[in-house]
Amino acid sequence: MKIKIIPVFLPENQCPFTCKFCNVKVANGEVSISSKGDIEKLIDKSLKTIEEKYPDAFKEVAFFGGTFTYGSFEEIEDYLKIVQPYIEKGRVDGIRVSTRPDFFDEKIAEVFKKHAVSTVEFGVQSFNSGVLKEARRGHNGEKAKEAVKLSLKHGFKTSVHLMIGLPRQSEEVFLNDIKQTIDLGVDYVRIHPFVVLKDTEFAKEGVKAPDCGDIVEILAKGVYLLKKSGVEVIKLGLQPTDSLNSSGSVLSGCYHQSLKHLVFSVIYRRFLEKLIKNEIKEIAVSPSDLSYFKGYKGMNADLIEKIVVKTDNKIERENVLIGETEVSVFKESLYD
Ligand code: SF4
Repeated sequence: MKIKIIPVFLPENQCPFTCKFCNVKVANGEVSISSKGDIEKLIDKSLKTIEEKYPDAFKEVAFFGGTFTYGSFEEIEDYLKIVQPYIEKGRVDGIRVSTRPDFFDEKIAEVFKKHAVSTVEFGVQSFNSGVLKEARRGHNGEKAKEAVKLSLKHGFKTSVHLMIGLPRQSEEVFLNDIKQTIDLGVDYVRIHPFVVLKDTEFAKEGVKAPDCGDIVEILAKGVYLLKKSGVEVIKLGLQPTDSLNSSGSVLSGCYHQSLKHLVFSVIYRRFLEKLIKNEIKEIAVSPSDLSYFKGYKGMNADLIEKIVVKTDNKIERENVLIGETEVSVFKESLYD
C-alpha cells in the first residue's frame, strides 16, 4: 500500500544533543513549527491534496526534527493528541515518529500505542560504537539495537536511519551496519552519505567527508543487500532544501540531487554485466526502470549497446523479462 507522509518538523530546541555532524537548521531549513494551530493548518493543507490524489494511501502524520521523545510525557502526548481527531474521523491512519534510540523505552512505547503511533524511525547512523563515539552521538551500538528490538516487539513499523562515510566508518563497518540492520528485521531504512555542514563540530575540526565517487559502489552494495532481504529503502540521500542548496552550507561530502538514480545505475550496470556474460541478447523491462538501465548521465551506454532492452508496461518495476521468465533484479546474486 502506498504510504503518504505529512511531515511536521519540530524546532531544534527539542534536542539537547550536539552530534558532530548535525545542523538541524541547515538540514531541514527554517520550517520548524510547534504551535497546535500551525500543525493543524499544515495537516489540513496536506490532506486536501493527498485525499484528492491518493484516496487509498495509508496516511501518516510524521514528527521529524530534534528528538521527539526528549520532552516530558505531557509534551509528547500534546503533539500526539493534535492528530487524534483526524484519526478518529478516518482521515489519517497513523503517526510516524522519529527519535533517538536512547530516548525510547517501554513507557514511551505504551504512550505511542495509546495514541496510534504506527511507525518509529530511529536515527542510528551506525551500529559501531567507535563511529558513534567519534560523532559524539551519546549512545553506543548496543543501545541502538535494543531500541529497534523493543520497537519491533511492540509491533511498530520500524525504520533505521543510517549514514555512510562517517569518520571511522570504513567499508567493512558500513557493510556490517547493513548486515545488522537486516538481522534485526526492520521494515524500512533511510541512508544518507555523511556530509560536513557549516557550523558543525566536524566543520570546526576540519573533517572532510568522502565524495560520491568514494562511496557510491559501497552504498550500491548496501542498498542491494537490504532490498534483497526485503528491507524497503525509503530514502537515499539528504532531502534537498533551500538552506542545504545555498552556497557554503555543505562544506564537503556526497550531497547529490540524484543519488538514488546514481546508486541504482551502479546496481543495474552490474545486472547488465551478468546478463552479457551469460550471453543474453534481449530483455524487456518496465518503462519506469529504463533510466536505471541507461544509467545516470548515460553511464551504462557501453553495455546497452551489447543487449537489446525493450520496454513493456506489463512488467513490474525492478523485474526483467528474459525469454519467457520474469526475474527480479533484486533477487539475483549480484554481490554474493
Ligand atoms: S540527536 Fe538528532 S537532532 Fe539532535 S543533534 Fe543529534 S542528529 Fe541532531
